[in-house]
Amino acid sequence: MTNEFRIAVMPGDGIGQEVTPAALAVADAALAKTGGIRLIREEAPAGAALYKETGEAFPQTSRSICDKADAIYLGAMGLPSVRYADGTEIAPQLDLRFMYNLYAGVRPTRAIPGVKVALADPRAADIDFVLVRESTEGLFYSRGKGTVEDDATARETMQITRAVSERVFDFAFKATERRRTQGKAGRLTLIDKANVFTAFAFFRKIFDEAAGRYPTIAADHLYVDAAALVMVAQPWNLDVAVTENMFGDILSDLAAGLVGGMGYAPSADIGDEHAVFQPAHGSAPDIVGTGKANPVAAILSAAMMLDWLGARHGEERVAEAGRLIDAAVDAAFADGGLVTCELGGEAGTRAVTDAVLAHLN
Ligand code: ATP
Repeated sequence: MTNEFRIAVMPGDGIGQEVTPAALAVADAALAKTGGIRLIREEAPAGAALYKETGEAFPQTSRSICDKADAIYLGAMGLPSVRYADGTEIAPQLDLRFMYNLYAGVRPTRAIPGVKVALADPRAADIDFVLVRESTEGLFYSRGKGTVEDDATARETMQITRAVSERVFDFAFKATERRRTQGKAGRLTLIDKANVFTAFAFFRKIFDEAAGRYPTIAADHLYVDAAALVMVAQPWNLDVAVTENMFGDILSDLAAGLVGGMGYAPSADIGDEHAVFQPAHGSAPDIVGTGKANPVAAILSAAMMLDWLGARHGEERVAEAGRLIDAAVDAAFADGGLVTCELGGEAGTRAVTDAVLAHLN
């Protein structure tokens, strides 16, 4: 039993600075309802704006705050106009994945009743699946290691290891089991390209071995091209899917597009000791300062953080606060009257946050 959790807060760049306070205000209100547990926040400055100002994107003082935290909450990082000398973007959020071995990128995709979805089919209202993206290797293993020879040939190399694959598959099977206890289908789909690449055939072999350890879960496979089609043609049939880093990067944005866009896409990057929770969107410099940023992705990411903290520490009150947030978001949009700016409505950061808070209280 504890009375508090320490959260390293990294608002970061652009709209990260706007949606982070909204999400944490909602988390505080939900925890106040379930009683007794407080979030002690410590701000850990990082990002492109800080790099521009100080020459450092992720200072040691911020790393130490993250090291000691029970969970890390991140707004958004990176600005297209600020780059390292080699032209790559400033992305401390990627550094965190490698620093803390955050191998499981969790991207829930759920149609919120009352929010306009991309597909006209009425079954689109039932979209509710989770994409688990391996986040430390795959093609991203090559980050910073790519080569260009004689201005003629560029190479990047993918890495798939047994150890990391087993960990992420175990994570995905357990997440599927947990959903099954909540009345969901209990099916895990591996997305790969095992018909063409040796690395993916190996990935599939490890997945099939793992499937043997989870006999209650229906396990199947899709090639990534077919998965892209299924995600658009019948996404309501997906339950949990697990995939390689680069495929997950692409498919998770496609998934977000199904249910309202990046403003509705929460995410978590989870390892054995640490976890980072952040909206899946970037810093959106085009709307910064306008008050139009949709805070739902950030708010739902805070709910995921409470769910994870609650499960990890056996604190049902914290997990319950996470569920209250999901319910309050649904209630805020249920009658279709709250329409966010990027979907053609008037509701910006303040209006959406107030509506969610009103339903929590
Ligand atoms: P990154 O390159 O890190 O993905 P980005 O900001 O360029 O960052 P996205 O996050 O994919 O890219 O956002 C693309 C566009 O979608 C933004 O420029 C913005 O117009 C819109 N957008 C993203 N997040 C939100 C949000 N929370 N609310 C409203 N619009 C958003």
